[in-house]
Amino acid sequence: MSPIELNKRQDAILQIVKENGPITGEHIAERLGLTRATLRPDLAILTMAGFLDARPRVGYFYAGKKASVVLTEAMLNLKVKDFRSSPVVVPDHMTVYDAIIYMFSEDVGTLFVIDRDEILQGVLSRKDLLRSSIGSQELNKLPVHMIMTRMPNIAYCTSTESLVEAAKKLIDREIDSMPVVEETEQGIKVVGRLTKTNITRAFISLAETHDL
Ligand code: ADP
Repeated sequence: MSPIELNKRQDAILQIVKENGPITGEHIAERLGLTRATLRPDLAILTMAGFLDARPRVGYFYAGKKASVVLTEAMLNLKVKDFRSSPVVVPDHMTVYDAIIYMFSEDVGTLFVIDRDEILQGVLSRKDLLRSSIGSQELNKLPVHMIMTRMPNIAYCTSTESLVEAAKKLIDREIDSMPVVEETEQGIKVVGRLTKTNITRAFISLAETHDL
């Protein structure tokens, strides 16, 4: 079943059925001042999602929420801000050598690169650093901005975004992590880090909350 977020009309229908069920589609439509035809798609969604049951010649009655609906709603309510980690950033003039040391000391797999105004400029992954290490460059002279993946090609998310949306970006772009950002007048500022580990943590918390 696809994720479902009820719209205002669907909420109103549920309320009417809860209070008056069993009730026919005609009567629900009457109460909302709409035609039966207009309501048909909403009734179909509510029935398919398990909120309503329908019996021929009797009408609709409230079926409560099925476990799958409760789980779907809980999943859609997970937000980036509840699972993100602290950002780990480096200045764009830092050398690749120092970035490698810093990646080890911070125990992260991705570093975000910022300029002197703290605006997001790029991303450095483990493989970006490894790749430059097997070349002939002098790592202690090479600045990270020469090898990073740069804006505007950076995938990012915001704190209020749903975790499912953010997870989709990680999978679609085949990356391990994303900066969590705030868009300011000066540019995009990094306020956090969202990794596959954070998504895994959310997955476990969902299972624990629902006794799975
Ligand atoms: P690794 O390279 O260590 O496997 P990733 O899969 O995260 O790690 O990175 C793959 C490539 O994608 C790297 O070149 C990296 O710079 C780039 N990358 C990583 N994160 C992002 C991001 N959020 N937006 C755009 N590119 C990214």
